[in-house]
Amino acid sequence: MIRAIVGANWGDEGKGKLTDVLAEHSDLVVRFQGGANAGHTIINQFGKFALHLLPSGIFHSQVLNLIGPGVALDPEAFLSELEGVLSRGIAHPRLGISDRAQVLMDFHILLDTLEEERLGGRKFGSTKSGIAPFYADKYAKTGIQVCQLLDKDLLHERLTASVEKKNVLLEHLYHHEPLSADALTEKYHALGQRLKPWVADTSLLLHEALRAKQNILLEGQLGALRDPDHGIYPYVTSSSPLAGYAAVGAGLPPWAITEVIAVTKAYSSSVGRGVFPSQLHGEEAEELRKRGGDAGEYGAKTGRPRDVGWFDAVATRHGCLVQGATQLAMTNLDVLSYLDEIPVCVAYELDGARITHFPATPHLERVKPVYERFPGWKTDIRGETDYKKLPENCRKYVEAIEKMVDTSITLLSTGPHRDEICRREA
Ligand code: GDP
Repeated sequence: MIRAIVGANWGDEGKGKLTDVLAEHSDLVVRFQGGANAGHTIINQFGKFALHLLPSGIFHSQVLNLIGPGVALDPEAFLSELEGVLSRGIAHPRLGISDRAQVLMDFHILLDTLEEERLGGRKFGSTKSGIAPFYADKYAKTGIQVCQLLDKDLLHERLTASVEKKNVLLEHLYHHEPLSADALTEKYHALGQRLKPWVADTSLLLHEALRAKQNILLEGQLGALRDPDHGIYPYVTSSSPLAGYAAVGAGLPPWAITEVIAVTKAYSSSVGRGVFPSQLHGEEAEELRKRGGDAGEYGAKTGRPRDVGWFDAVATRHGCLVQGATQLAMTNLDVLSYLDEIPVCVAYELDGARITHFPATPHLERVKPVYERFPGWKTDIRGETDYKKLPENCRKYVEAIEKMVDTSITLLSTGPHRDEICRREA
């Protein structure tokens, strides 16, 4: 069985926790896009971890964890994350890195940082991990593949071509000292040697696993609304976080993905800039932010406070639609237990008309949320594993949302820990 676990919203939906849960019965876990620019929080018997590049299957000894060709691989970030995990007593995970994955270099981070500074008030809220300049290079065909790190002459040739234009930008736009292809070649060739033990044709491995009918999990980063084509452009990421791209970014045939598990929170949260119709402000926001997630709603990568708001059925239905969700997992349901009444955004008002579709950004910026209120359950449900034992109002909330977003909710997370999960029949 091949399943994709992907975000239905703005990201940070709790995909890491679910991947860790579902990896128990998986043979392979594959990252297919993005880089070290987001974090997946995992809490299990080994402790609390924020993974950025390592696949969330690393805590299961039987799992082969792969970095697919669609990923932006920062070798230093990868190696230091691995060292961090090993230093906490985790057994060395089984790993593979695609020889076709491209390398996120120091200068991508530098260019990302300089550009955000230049933009000032017009900045995108980038995590400054170099993601946009990385993908710009990839599609301009000036990127460096992992396999090219291992051939020093080829690496030097590629880097010389790559820094030529960047140095003009650095000197004349950013007033920064130029890059040296020689120094970069030395540094990245040495890093390539350190990565070498894991470098492989991971697509070949995946095709073999497919033929052997193994269980494969494809782990998405961020969420549907950050997709460059179907999201809130330009407040998006630079690679596609959609299940449709998972086949490409991992290296599998599209028909092989039979389950698409979209993940949503029981409320909304977003980090970084973007349009967020049901966003809360003031005291109400502070209360929800404080109670959300495992230790409040603060970005796993940046520590920035996340924007929070009520569940948005319009945005989530759109997220499920563009993900092609075959089922939905809802996390952080326990967080809402303090509320007397829970508003849900069921429609938008756009220029006086009620709409239930998710419009393109210029229209979305003008919508007002239309709320329906559901009675709260005012009972602590943290850790509940039996759906039938959840309070009636809680089940009503879940079932009403299920209808609104037109997707079966099959998994409900009632706490951040691996064991705090309810399974429901589809
Ligand atoms: P990801 O990037 O989609 O994996 O999401 P993040 O890890 O960035 O954010 C999800 C946050 O919610 C983290 O703080 C998790 O520990 C936390 N979390 C996940 N599921 C639950 C849940 O059911 N209840 C609570 N209270 N926290 C959860």
